[in-house]
Amino acid sequence: MIDFLQDEAWNSLRRQMNAPLVAADAVPATVVGGLSLAELAQLATDGIDTTVDQLKIAPDQTLFLHDTRVVVELAPHADGLPTIHLTACATVQAALQQNCHVSTRTARHVEVSVVNPDGEWDVATQQKPVCVDCLRTLNWQGMQSDLPDALQQHIAEQFDLSDFYQIYPVTLPLTTYQQLWITTGERLNTYTPDWPEVAEYVKTYSRWICTTCQRSFAHHRDQLLVDHLNGLKYDNTIGNLRVCCVSCRAALS
Ligand SMILES: [Zn+2]
Ligand SMILES: [Zn+2]
Repeated sequence: MIDFLQDEAWNSLRRQMNAPLVAADAVPATVVGGLSLAELAQLATDGIDTTVDQLKIAPDQTLFLHDTRVVVELAPHADGLPTIHLTACATVQAALQQNCHVSTRTARHVEVSVVNPDGEWDVATQQKPVCVDCLRTLNWQGMQSDLPDALQQHIAEQFDLSDFYQIYPVTLPLTTYQQLWITTGERLNTYTPDWPEVAEYVKTYSRWICTTCQRSFAHHRDQLLVDHLNGLKYDNTIGNLRVCCVSCRAALS
């Protein structure tokens, strides 16, 4: 059993999440709608094996395991390195029933055995490639299909997972409420105290587009709402939130 209070991977994850350090006996086994602390620590280190259909797709097309944003590696072809996917690109969607490996770690390099010119085995460091389709979806550093191939190649080579998690954080900012829930055990169907920020965050990430009619409300922001699909106002897990405009909601209900 890892001592999470001492474990550097866990502590760096905790800092990334801005989660407070709580006394050991107050550490819950699980957080609401989410992964256990052991699973979060495993995601940040070795990663977790799952299947693609266990993942949720956020409005910005990035991928979540429960309420934790992850990157995905599918089984590599023959002797190649696995490609890192950041979004539900065509390749990921085509692999729905397949096994995959998800993680929140920021290292892309792996050590591989290679035969050196003297015919001996040697260890070399290689970088896992990142999916170019995924980078285009995120418009990563202006990545789009009409850029010259060499420039796209360059952007993909320079891609840094730490930068990715700066812009697309590992979790939605729910830590305060989760902590409150765990402390009080309260289960009234009320909005979380951080709901205004969560709703703003989700709408911003959906680029102010209604997921039903696909119209942009960037200039009519007061007409865009966020619904809890299962009716539980405190369940802010990403798969439970739907960005919807006032007229679509009226039509749906
Ligand atoms: Zn991809
Ligand atoms: Zn709409």
